[in-house]
Amino acid sequence: MSRTIRVVNPATNKLIRKVPMDSQASIELKIRRAKHAQTAWAKTPFRIRRTALLKFDNLLKAQKQPLAKLLSLETGKPISQALGEVGTVGGRIRFFVDHAERVLSDETPYKDSTVTETISYDPLGLVANISAWNYPYFVGANVFVPALLTGNAVLYKPSEFSTLTGIKIANLLHKAGVPKNVFIPIIGDGRVGAALIERPLGGIFFTGSYATGSKIAQSASKRLTRVQLELGGKDPAYVMDDADPAIAAAGLADGAFYNTGQSCCAVERIYVHKKVYHRFIEAFVETVRGFKVGDPLDPKTYIGPLTRPQRLAFLENQAKDAVRKGASLITGGRRLTNTKGNYFEPTVLTHCTHKMNVMREETFGPLIGIQKVSSDVEAIRLMKDTEYGLTAGVYSKNLPHAKKVLAEMDAGSVYWNCCDRVSPNLPWSGRGHSGMGCTLSVHGISAFLQPKAWHLRRA
Ligand code: NAD
Repeated sequence: MSRTIRVVNPATNKLIRKVPMDSQASIELKIRRAKHAQTAWAKTPFRIRRTALLKFDNLLKAQKQPLAKLLSLETGKPISQALGEVGTVGGRIRFFVDHAERVLSDETPYKDSTVTETISYDPLGLVANISAWNYPYFVGANVFVPALLTGNAVLYKPSEFSTLTGIKIANLLHKAGVPKNVFIPIIGDGRVGAALIERPLGGIFFTGSYATGSKIAQSASKRLTRVQLELGGKDPAYVMDDADPAIAAAGLADGAFYNTGQSCCAVERIYVHKKVYHRFIEAFVETVRGFKVGDPLDPKTYIGPLTRPQRLAFLENQAKDAVRKGASLITGGRRLTNTKGNYFEPTVLTHCTHKMNVMREETFGPLIGIQKVSSDVEAIRLMKDTEYGLTAGVYSKNLPHAKKVLAEMDAGSVYWNCCDRVSPNLPWSGRGHSGMGCTLSVHGISAFLQPKAWHLRRA
């Protein structure tokens, strides 16, 4: 196993820093320290845990600029979007802080003169949080904030593509008052993640690809460890015959290309009713051609480099496969060669069909396939033709019309006249290959607790 992570700037492919990786022995030691510390943390009054997380939120706010710059440097996220992520993660933190105490409270569903039946909630204990790089603050906070508030200790493995941000998050949590042994970063790549989950844990909370998620579920099943998986998607959107094509085009172009298309809930395929097709395509392509591609540190940049260089060939192949099978390449389709960074042109393909990979496998980049449809029935059939089930959306002026389509979707989140949207008030969950369990909302707090039934009889 290599001993270091090479942190590379995807906009230049220059080395930023080398960071030592954890070993089997250091993971073992960290697990022992965290297990010991968790017992005391669970007994710490809730208000102290709450104060620490609120202080963490304040530290994020105070250091928003340098934190966003670091995130932009190591992932290539455009700086305006990095500032957006660091600047709004506080909304999630505050949701958890405001609701965790209620979720932790005992309940007494039955009581008579002799018998009292009560439910109390214990933390899971020591949980592993294996995280993705595309939104390290959002997807990290979805897990470690409710885990810590409910009295768990966390072994946090940031993605190898956002290692420095992961280390920063750990430092800030410690500075905010979370004991060092209650939140411990585990540094490394997938091999380190695999070594971590082989140990006895109270739960594994994973955000990443379906391929890795299914390996984790298999490994955890041997020890019957609780597993929660937030995985990828192939999220469809349908522009209905009564939609405003300009509004739909603006919303969907942003939904498909924000964060350079590297969002789990990015719009990944679009179906457009023939009545509004031409007006939609015109507005959509104009918007995409207007996106500024460039240096992620330039505040005007909307499309940055891909975080992982291997994805350049993947996207090129998806575009080639579609064109070979009859798609029209309207714009983009190849990597930018006049730069050392991992840049891919924003790409729009029309006349797509489900024989093409672009309509079936997760793209996770600045490339979108569009297909014309003649009816709601056809759109529903195509939208459901997927193994994933993260989100699905429709654009329409008519809510009952939209709801008829959305009710048919086997997806964790559905959208009317919006897309690529996450709210702390609502559960975030995937179905099928998009995962199991959920984060956010009060359900995403309960996920870190196990109920204990108290049968109490007066003698
Ligand atoms: P990934 O699966 O390659 O890696 C995710 C994490 O798993 C990393 O920390 C990695 O080091 C670790 N890992 C890799 N192999 C492992 C193994 N065998 N055992 C344990 N850990 C292992 O995914 P990624 O490239 O970081 O993220 C992109 C994917 O994540 C996309 O599919 C995206 O849709 C998905 N995602 C989903 C959500 C969601 O909320 N549903 C959010 C963000 C990203």
